[in-house]
Amino acid sequence: MTHEVIRHLLDDYVTGELNDDARGPVEGHVAICEICSAEVESLKRILVRASDLPKSIEPPAEAWSNIRTAILREESAAASHSTRMASPAFWRRRFTSTRARPRLQRSAR
Ligand SMILES: [Zn+2]
Repeated sequence: MTHEVIRHLLDDYVTGELNDDARGPVEGHVAICEICSAEVESLKRILVRASDLPKSIEPPAEAWSNIRTAILREESAAASHSTRMASPAFWRRRFTSTRARPRLQRSAR
């Protein structure tokens, strides 16, 4: 296997997920290739640091309350928007508040 092929296998090599057929050639290459051996060391350091991280993180107690408030705010904004759009006054204002108004006022006379 070439350096180019092996460097894509280094992740699995470090995590122990590499199959038995590939492990030997990768091990042999890492022993003689400075770039790959440095990459293996770096990946091992990352794994060690990642293993120190907590497996799960509890959200702060107020998180759900904030999410619920945001959802309710969205729903009420959407509801008030559709209520406004269902109102004839909304459309009257929209079409009479622009250039259409003078013409409408003239034709109303
Ligand atoms: Zn290499």
